[in-house]
Amino acid sequence: MKSTRCCTVQKIRYLLATDLDGTFVGDEEGLRELLDYYDSLPERVALAYVTGRHRASAMGLIREERLPVPDILITDVGTSVYSGPDLAEDPGWKQRMTENWDPQAVRGIARGISGIRLQNLPDTRRVSFFSEGGEPAEKLKNALTSDGIPHTFIFSSGRDVDILPEGGGKGEALRYVIGKFAEVDASILVAGDSGNDLDMLMLGYPSVIVSNARPELLEAEGHDALFRATRPCAGGILEAWMHFHGNTADIKG
Ligand SMILES: [Mg+2]
Repeated sequence: MKSTRCCTVQKIRYLLATDLDGTFVGDEEGLRELLDYYDSLPERVALAYVTGRHRASAMGLIREERLPVPDILITDVGTSVYSGPDLAEDPGWKQRMTENWDPQAVRGIARGISGIRLQNLPDTRRVSFFSEGGEPAEKLKNALTSDGIPHTFIFSSGRDVDILPEGGGKGEALRYVIGKFAEVDASILVAGDSGNDLDMLMLGYPSVIVSNARPELLEAEGHDALFRATRPCAGGILEAWMHFHGNTADIKG
């Protein structure tokens, strides 16, 4: 009898899902330690980068910093998902992120608000601005809501405003990725340092806030599986990985 299981893709058993700037990247020595540790394990830890950068910018950083090419790349604050050896765009997520999305309307509303400057981005999967402090950002948020524009509002670092499609964001994209690519009982660690990481850190998976995190994260309420590292960037990720998964990964012979 012919097997119908020949083409099943192996699901991920160990996964680090991490923001790039200020989390995975930012402390070279800590990153070397983390990667050496992963290399020493009997099982491979899959990598998902979850970044606010667009794809070309993320790939540029990966080259410059000589980072491992990830198994999964989530860019544009969770509005695009790429996977596989060629990092091909995930059609299911793309469909979700484009069906109810009107970037023109967002830009139109923002034009009437002072203290908000549009960021120049290569695509319109999200619309991002620089805000002069919290007040213009708040005005934009209120205007979008009162005009009934479906969106997700994300404010980071006291300056960066990302307007995403409804149901977008790093958290929702990561939930989708884990559901699609990871085993049900996979060992997962989520890592971040700023406001646009908050939703993914709060999904309830083992998560780490690195010690150099922005105030908006340091002040955030936690959950049972949220670890606050004493080390910055990748060193903090290693500290948290040991805390949550240090034994399970080593036992396997
Ligand atoms: Mg960051």
